[in-house]
Amino acid sequence: MALHIPFSNAYAQLPEQFYARVLPTKVKKPDLIRVNHPLAAQLGFDTTATEPQTLADIFSGNTLPDEADPLAMVYSGHQFGQLNPQLGDGRAILLGDLLDSTGQRKDIQLKGAGTTPFSRMGDGRCPLGPALREYILCEAMHALGVPTTRALAVVSTGERVVRERLEPGAVFTRVAASHIRVGTFQYFALRRDAEALKTLADQVITRHYPDIDVSADDKYLQMFTAICRRQADLIARWMNIGFIHGVMNTDNMTASGETIDYGPCAFIDAFHRETVFSSIDRHGRYAYINQPAIGQWNLARLAETLLSLFPGDEQQSVEQATGILQDFAQWHQDAWLAGFNRKLGFATIEEGDKERAEALLDLLQQGGLDFTLFFRRLSDLVAADTGRSELFALLDYPEVRKTSALEQGLTQWLDNWQQDLTSRESDLSAAQQRMKAASPALIPRNHQVQAAIQAAEEGDFSVFEQLLTALQTPYRDIAADDPLSTPPTPQQQVLKTFCGT
Ligand code: AMP
Ligand code: MG
Repeated sequence: MALHIPFSNAYAQLPEQFYARVLPTKVKKPDLIRVNHPLAAQLGFDTTATEPQTLADIFSGNTLPDEADPLAMVYSGHQFGQLNPQLGDGRAILLGDLLDSTGQRKDIQLKGAGTTPFSRMGDGRCPLGPALREYILCEAMHALGVPTTRALAVVSTGERVVRERLEPGAVFTRVAASHIRVGTFQYFALRRDAEALKTLADQVITRHYPDIDVSADDKYLQMFTAICRRQADLIARWMNIGFIHGVMNTDNMTASGETIDYGPCAFIDAFHRETVFSSIDRHGRYAYINQPAIGQWNLARLAETLLSLFPGDEQQSVEQATGILQDFAQWHQDAWLAGFNRKLGFATIEEGDKERAEALLDLLQQGGLDFTLFFRRLSDLVAADTGRSELFALLDYPEVRKTSALEQGLTQWLDNWQQDLTSRESDLSAAQQRMKAASPALIPRNHQVQAAIQAAEEGDFSVFEQLLTALQTPYRDIAADDPLSTPPTPQQQVLKTFCGT
């Protein structure tokens, strides 16, 4: 049966300097690897009755669905601090946007669908590995409760792409609340196109912040504030599950507050604040602990593009923006601590909680303890001491720096925490539920993602499928010896991740 996707294409109705109309470049032999049927249903169409080959043709770009209006979006961006005035979708093509079953507008974009006017030296293609990686990571993030773009489909192309080696090619289909980035604002600000900036900001308000009164004088200031709030919360969520984005360039930060562009991102195994995985992040600009400050830096770049739209004169605009950027730091801190406190079972925040949190992180860092397992096992200690041996067993992992100072430190920290928890929380079983809902048992561990990709490259997609299925319910209790919950051995550890672009 043919597939009808009910596109209505709001972005394509924006002025022509917002994009270039471009058709996907056909691929040799599209084969469907996976389609996300429940997501399709949420988007308002049914993929279950459609032949896999028809789906492969559509989600490779070989067949255009009726009512698609394909285009590549323009944007600029600061990449590792350096301004690149002309980026844009170089290997992604927006098929169109539509209103989903809840009335929210969503973009459907093909990644790896061929060159566009913004491809520069690139081939417009995507290797299978990064496509599967993005599929796993974004669906895992969604299940973890983190705002994110979603994975609708992945198709192999029957073609090879040239990277450091020849790799099998793929097209990944991404769904986003929108693909408008900080870099999209920068693009028009750099060209001093005030009209386009306003149009873009109006689009962002309509799509992402419909509560803002569009007749208010300060609507753009409100929009900026709202974006800062969402990003403050988003980055707090990342931090509290040990996620490192890896390339927080301004073109990879959305106006919607969704996580976007899963390139060299990874989850921390052994905890250290300065952890960096990305092979291209040589100076640790996007290290785990730098993420809030980088978020603020990116939002300052956004503020610069909007100053002329804020009410008052230039000085007043600068003061307003500066105030909100300072608030961002506080909003982030508050969101982070509220989240961290939930990981410790607390329903409220009190004096000294931040110090308690940092002291624990110091201990985890001192030993290089597994971030995910530590918090999950901690939830077993809520009522009694019975789980302490399981928790301390983490110290016996081969790569852990186990010392008596660390053991003493942990013992003391645990004693204090248990005492406080029992005195502050009358309902300990609720406290435990809170902890388990804040600290997943399962995350997409890098070595497992890598193993799934490797098997897929050899034609076996079962590991990929199993991993995806398991990651759909990351907060459930799982057996201690479940291989998916175990940290990598030193041999399995993945120390570097690659963009693969
Ligand atoms: P990313 O690293 O995916 O955030 O991409 C940064 C910029 O490089 C964007 O403008 C992309 O469209 C572009 N780009 C990345 N990979 C390719 C590719 N294989 N071909 C063309 N453009 C690309
Ligand atoms: Mg990008």
